[in-house]
Amino acid sequence: MINKKKLGQNFLINKDIARNEIEYCGITNKDIVLEIGPGKGILTKILIEKAKKVIAIEIDKNLYNNLKKTILDKNIILINNDVLKIKFKDIPKFNKIVSNLPFHISLPITIKILNYDFNKAVLIYQKEFAERMTSKVGEKNYSRLSILIYYKSFCKILENIPKINFSPTPKIDSSIVEIMPRKTPPFYLKNEAFFFELTKNLFNHKRKKIQNNLKKHYNIDLKNIPYKNKRIGEITPEEIGKLSNILYDQIN
Ligand code: SAM
Repeated sequence: MINKKKLGQNFLINKDIARNEIEYCGITNKDIVLEIGPGKGILTKILIEKAKKVIAIEIDKNLYNNLKKTILDKNIILINNDVLKIKFKDIPKFNKIVSNLPFHISLPITIKILNYDFNKAVLIYQKEFAERMTSKVGEKNYSRLSILIYYKSFCKILENIPKINFSPTPKIDSSIVEIMPRKTPPFYLKNEAFFFELTKNLFNHKRKKIQNNLKKHYNIDLKNIPYKNKRIGEITPEEIGKLSNILYDQIN
């Protein structure tokens, strides 16, 4: 049995916001759109009017059955499954993504879509998560997530949405976020896995100076290591990339 409390079921109840979100994504009759968690269909009903095809994945059997009864258009593929379990290669290829995301899967679904080849996503996230996604060096919410998002995409908050526009009313406000994947990375990395591991290690002890942080994790000579007297929150993704390449050479 699925625990519905854990499905992030805060339904959007403002049609203007639904229309705006879809407008931001610039959907045309050439687009094949993935919708994650269609719920009661507030976005889905507009999407099927505009897109060539909509692939909507809903985990909740009751919501899925209701949608199946109410939306009879031929240009929708409705799937009753967990979007995290589905392999994107097993469904038709899509180029855009629109969703009011179930907040509890924000991180894994973001990582999953960033590994897929699409043109544009316009997604509703909890505001705090959206701020962590888009924070820049020196800002309070600059995090591992900000680095990952920056490395993989161009991402910005388009609009904040007060919580009263959802039912049941969630505890915090939301944001509409645009994600456009980068065609090429913003800087050169000798080894991506090493870079992301380094980023994780450094952000785990955000307040420590980089040199103290590095001593904990790597057996290296710190003499020629740049930024060692700074803290991770003070250096840009490009600088972390440079640090990563130097360390990678020393270690390998
Ligand atoms: N799109 C609707 C709206 O805007 O009102 C519903 C949004 S609600 C925030 C999230 C939806 O995602 C719910 O319908 C929920 O059942 C569904 N959901 C939750 N986890 C899911 C998962 N892992 N895979 C697919 N759908 C999921």
